[in-house]
Amino acid sequence: MRIHFATITKLAHGLAQLPYLPRILALVWTAARGWTLAWSGLLLIQALLPVATVYLTRAAVDSLAFMAASGGVGRELDSIWSEPILIWGALLFGAALGNECTRGAMSWVQTAQAERVQDHIRSLIHRKSMQVDLAFYDSPDSYDRLHRARDEAESRPLALIHHIGILLQYSLTLLAMGAALAPFGLWLPIALLVSTLPAFIAMIRSGMRYHQWWLRTTAEERRTWYYDWLLTAGEPAAELRLFGLGRRFQAAYQSLRQKLRIENLQLAKTQSRAEVMAGALAVGITATAYGWMIWQARQGIWTLGEIALFYQAFHQGQRFMRGILDHAGQIYSNILFLESLFDFLALQPRVIDTAKPVRIPGALRQGIGFRQVSFRYPGSRGLALDRFNLDIPAGQMVAIVGGSGAGKSTLVKLLCRLYDPDAGRIEIEGIDIRHYPLAELRQMMTVLFQSPVHYQATVTDNIGLGHGAGQAWQPTAASVRAAARAADAEAIIDRLPEGYDTMLGKRFDEGTELSGGQWQHLALARACWRQVPIILLDEPTSAMDPWSEADWMERFRTYAAARTAILITHRMTMAMRADIIHVMRHGRIVESGCHRQLLAKGEFYAQAWAAQVERGSDVSATS
Ligand code: ATP
Repeated sequence: MRIHFATITKLAHGLAQLPYLPRILALVWTAARGWTLAWSGLLLIQALLPVATVYLTRAAVDSLAFMAASGGVGRELDSIWSEPILIWGALLFGAALGNECTRGAMSWVQTAQAERVQDHIRSLIHRKSMQVDLAFYDSPDSYDRLHRARDEAESRPLALIHHIGILLQYSLTLLAMGAALAPFGLWLPIALLVSTLPAFIAMIRSGMRYHQWWLRTTAEERRTWYYDWLLTAGEPAAELRLFGLGRRFQAAYQSLRQKLRIENLQLAKTQSRAEVMAGALAVGITATAYGWMIWQARQGIWTLGEIALFYQAFHQGQRFMRGILDHAGQIYSNILFLESLFDFLALQPRVIDTAKPVRIPGALRQGIGFRQVSFRYPGSRGLALDRFNLDIPAGQMVAIVGGSGAGKSTLVKLLCRLYDPDAGRIEIEGIDIRHYPLAELRQMMTVLFQSPVHYQATVTDNIGLGHGAGQAWQPTAASVRAAARAADAEAIIDRLPEGYDTMLGKRFDEGTELSGGQWQHLALARACWRQVPIILLDEPTSAMDPWSEADWMERFRTYAAARTAILITHRMTMAMRADIIHVMRHGRIVESGCHRQLLAKGEFYAQAWAAQVERGSDVSATS
């Protein structure tokens, strides 16, 4: 009883997805209008050809029987050519040829339709991925959703359309077949339906089971992808070799795959068993119908042509009825999967513009302020920022130092509204940044994140991409050079085989790989491309050698002159050059002042300075 209740619940859930159907049809129509029209036309032809064949067969067999009865053998060759059998034969041949042609054309049209629809869905997924908040990427549940949307759901709409098409085609054919069978007895169409119903029920049940299993195992499936990536990607390749981790991850992959495979095979086994039983029932009903027909034929009730028509119509009707229910089952399971796609596409970002945004100032006069800002990452227990207060006056260069996990990078993410604080406010020119248009706010600042992207593109593109969206793409040679100069990247670029045109990275042909420090100089150049009032740099020199760091700092001072800059760093030798230094601990500022003042205080900053610079120089002096 419990099983039945569960089945009904799942079935109801599946039916609740039916409203997705018009959305999917609209999606296909938007993506491939012309191809969908062509597909519908071919479908209609394919639906009518089998019926035409059945009627043509009857006419052909009857005229053949008539010819035989009227002593066809031994007649003159000339008179044979005028026999109707030849016309029927030619038409039958034409129908078969037409069937082949439409089948070929259908395959081409479906490929074109599939390509367009798939690209359209992918672009919807890409657009949504760019829209969602950064917080989306902080939860495993989000990865499950993205995985489901990208994995099965991407191909399901097409499968759905394919099955709907065949269902329509078969229904048309079957209607015509039913009409052909009705004169033999009204119970025959009903027998057709009954013989195929068990297979349909088996299909619905297995579709539901598979869908439940797919939902339940998404995280495991993602983990197999992750192991696959670890084993095949370039980034982890060195560590895998050095620590000998290959076998370990391979074993983990295989054991997970084995579990999933066994479960999947179990589902397939249950489905096959149900299909065999349903098939046996269908064979029983067919045998009964044919037995009845033979009995009728013995009474001499039907002509030979009618017997041929009965055989074809029943045989084909059963095939089409089975097909219809088969495809109805497939439509049902595909709709179940589409929930994941629409679930993902329905995600709405929370970091958005207010109803009446205010114009963003062109330049800073007052500066930036954090007022009692508290923030906790989604799903985290601890506060990353705890009633955080900070004033950053316009035109100053401010350094923020502090231990790992103190909350420094979080400041940057909140300032460019990748997240919004849970409490308190962040101000620019005394106005809460949530009141500025989001796009304008982000265009007002340039950022170097802690782990910048290594774009597999030319040097010019790697720098010019900092230009950002919404602006014309105009990387002039002079502007790219200026940004490279500000980032102290010129010498690196001049040594590359094709200078600014060198393709970077090894993913594509003729790429040149850079060192970590060299990539960092380029990322800095990208950040320096924008001529904007606010500069946020998170660990800009973490991968640089000390000589480069000193050089870069001098250049950076020139680049950042009259702008407001926040420099997050673990390097005290860099922090000391800022106008003011703030020390962070556990989501709060615990010390502020210039280098001398903080040294004189003798607390956190002074301890870090002593540990990093003074003891470091002692060691080098003694070595
Ligand atoms: P580091 O110097 O090591 O880069 P940080 O001072 O920049 O550290 P943050 O990256 O701001 O530190 O992190 C502050 C706290 O927030 C840490 O406890 C960290 O574990 C947590 N945290 C950071 N990013 C996330 C995230 N995406 N989801 C959940 N917690 C996070």
